Amino acid sequence: MIGVTATAPRDLLAGVDVGGTSIAVLLADSQLVVRGRYAAPTRRDEPEQAGQQVAAAVHGACRAGGVDPARIAAVGVGVPGRVDSDAGTVSLALNLGWREVDLRDQLEALLGVDCFVANDVRAAARGLVERRVLGGVDDLVYVSVGTGISAGIVIDGHLVLGMHGMAGEIGHVVVRPGGARCICGLRGCLETVASGRGIAARAQEALDAGTASTLVDRRPVTARDVYNASEAGDELARSITEEAGRALGRVTYDLALTFDVERVCFGGGVSQAGSAFIDPIRRELDRLRGASPLAADLLPLDLVQLLPAGTEAGVWGALFLARKGRTGRSVREPDGKEVGGRSQPSPLAT
Ligand SMILES: [Zn+2]
Repeated sequence: MIGVTATAPRDLLAGVDVGGTSIAVLLADSQLVVRGRYAAPTRRDEPEQAGQQVAAAVHGACRAGGVDPARIAAVGVGVPGRVDSDAGTVSLALNLGWREVDLRDQLEALLGVDCFVANDVRAAARGLVERRVLGGVDDLVYVSVGTGISAGIVIDGHLVLGMHGMAGEIGHVVVRPGGARCICGLRGCLETVASGRGIAARAQEALDAGTASTLVDRRPVTARDVYNASEAGDELARSITEEAGRALGRVTYDLALTFDVERVCFGGGVSQAGSAFIDPIRRELDRLRGASPLAADLLPLDLVQLLPAGTEAGVWGALFLARKGRTGRSVREPDGKEVGGRSQPSPLAT
């Protein structure tokens, strides 16, 4: 008798988005029809269990979709941090408490299929282009504004990685010299002014200093609280969200000057504040257009946008990572044996 497992076609891909609060998994077939979904809370500070945690989530998606795990052909994993995609390792993911995790090797040993690991925002940016989420836009920057801030840069449809795969780490561009101390060691980085963590810290400092605000009873105050209060007319909250928008607007202009992109798309938890988040950025871009003919030329009126609702950029980006890796790495020889070189370039860089 031939078992189901032995004959199951490997026709599904898995995309895994490892976030600071939850791990989300998407299973899809070659037509990109969703065949399973799953999400579980992230267990932080367990680097030795990283592979097991991700593998368990992949199996959870299989159970949820009623599909045999043996049908999975490849797994892509997006991780918020410094990732060496060629080595398959996560050298540092502060929000997860992971350091020097050989995630790909752990996962491949557990799942028995090719696995690919990349920075989550870079993978998401690539996925946006692959899925044509922004229409025919081939030159774009995807900026994720959440606990931290990071970006993925796509030029002529190709993701820009740089020497360390770090191209797009704009959260540590200094926008306020001498400002608040950043987790990276410098002062006044974009993250200290406009990330979820930075916005909450700015509000808390002002409240501790006795500034009057409707936020006074919120402990701990969150970035979402600040954006809500700003929309409701709170002066302190408004000054903080305006400064965040000015900083993001200026960095958007820097990105337009550096890469001449058609679109800068914002996603991530903080961006879910919607118009309260994006309007201050648009105001700063309007101000720049009014002050400089160069800016007016370089900054199209529809330069910035919010990620469309329901995009699920993280899991889809990871899934395309699996698809790219699968097609890029697997070469079938005449005897049917698959060969693949670890020395091949990262599947992201295609
Ligand atoms: Zn920094």
